[in-house]
Amino acid sequence: MSLHDRDERLEAAILAAVRERLAADPPALGGTADAIPPAITAAGLGAERAAALLLDTVIPGAFQIDHPRYLAFIPSAQAPAAALADTLLAVNSIYGGSWLEGSGLVAAENQALRWLADLAGLPAAAGGTFVQGGTNGNLSALHAARAAARARGERATRVAVSADAHSSIEQMLRVMDAEPVGLDAVDADGVFAVVATAGTTNLGRVDDLAAVAALCREHGLWMHVDGAYGLAALCAPSARHRFDGIEHADSFIVDPHKWLFSPFDCCALVYRDAALGRAAHRQHASYLEALYADDAAFNPSDYGVHLTRRARGLPFWFALAVHGTDAFAEAVETTLAVTRAGADEIRAREELELVLEPELSVLAFRRRGWVAADYDRWADALRASGTAFVMPTTVAGETIARLALVNPRTTLDDLRAVLDTMR
Ligand SMILES: *Cc1c(COP(=O)(O)O)cnc(C)c1O
Repeated sequence: MSLHDRDERLEAAILAAVRERLAADPPALGGTADAIPPAITAAGLGAERAAALLLDTVIPGAFQIDHPRYLAFIPSAQAPAAALADTLLAVNSIYGGSWLEGSGLVAAENQALRWLADLAGLPAAAGGTFVQGGTNGNLSALHAARAAARARGERATRVAVSADAHSSIEQMLRVMDAEPVGLDAVDADGVFAVVATAGTTNLGRVDDLAAVAALCREHGLWMHVDGAYGLAALCAPSARHRFDGIEHADSFIVDPHKWLFSPFDCCALVYRDAALGRAAHRQHASYLEALYADDAAFNPSDYGVHLTRRARGLPFWFALAVHGTDAFAEAVETTLAVTRAGADEIRAREELELVLEPELSVLAFRRRGWVAADYDRWADALRASGTAFVMPTTVAGETIARLALVNPRTTLDDLRAVLDTMR
């Protein structure tokens, strides 16, 4: 059988596995594969053996991040509708970089971006694209910020960054050869942007965006809001007030693959003035000029550090189209409510102590009497037994327990089951 021949048995096996995964409630937490047998040979293993390897060893050798007791890092919780749209996207060879090739995809993705821009209160000129992740989103936004400053003749060499910014900010500033400074140095020579975080990855705290906006206006600086995790809660009425001031942002990011129920890998990048994103990112070449024959054509490639791209915002758009925005608000509210109930549960247990009141959906707490090694042993044992995936963290040098919630299927009973293992 040659490379492009159909194999109906293989199709049936893979589609059956897709069905089985969709029906798994919850999926097995997953596990670790130390190694997989060598599979790349001149003649090929054949569909049957390769599929067995894929389905029985490779996929199970990874954790299912949407498991309700996956509570480490920032989890993910794709809605079935979004996963189905992604499956369909995979078998369609459709290109999400240009209007000429994928106007339907682009128009749909832009509706989803518009929903986010409206939640933030940005004007009609706002727009952007979906990039691979928050790291790329932050880089793309900060490059646009610097390009805008340099177009005005500024030196633009430094970015003011609030405390507890995500690691990607410092790393992307390194890529840009720009220097991070604290918010207290906002008037230093060469500062062209301020990065605020809404909310922080470790503890879910949201910077005072109105204060950052005032600072940016006073000093004529670009305001970028890194909301990769937390800005999802813009749609949740009980948390919306925490983001007051976001309406002044020149750019923001939010990852639908975190708390907006979309598959990996998907970051929404929105500029207040989409034209500034395009001015910074559009690539020029003879073989691309045809994409610009129509002046009004909106080419997603022009708005980030990418050219070829899958329409990775389409699954997000589809889940929004199927369920409506109220369902998103409700799902985020569910997680916020379970987090608050989890905080009460922690307070009620005398061996535990809450480190801070959750602003969003991160529970940070200590187990009295435990040292760092105890937290590590606890996390390792839960993972090894397939009970839960948790990770300790550190705050001001102290190791503590941390549970991050984004999955509306995570219940208070799930949290209790995890807390019971700390007795
Ligand atoms: C996760 C996260 C990022 C990085 O996003 P990726 O999609 O992992 O690249 C950036 N900022 C914050 C606040 C995050 O939580």
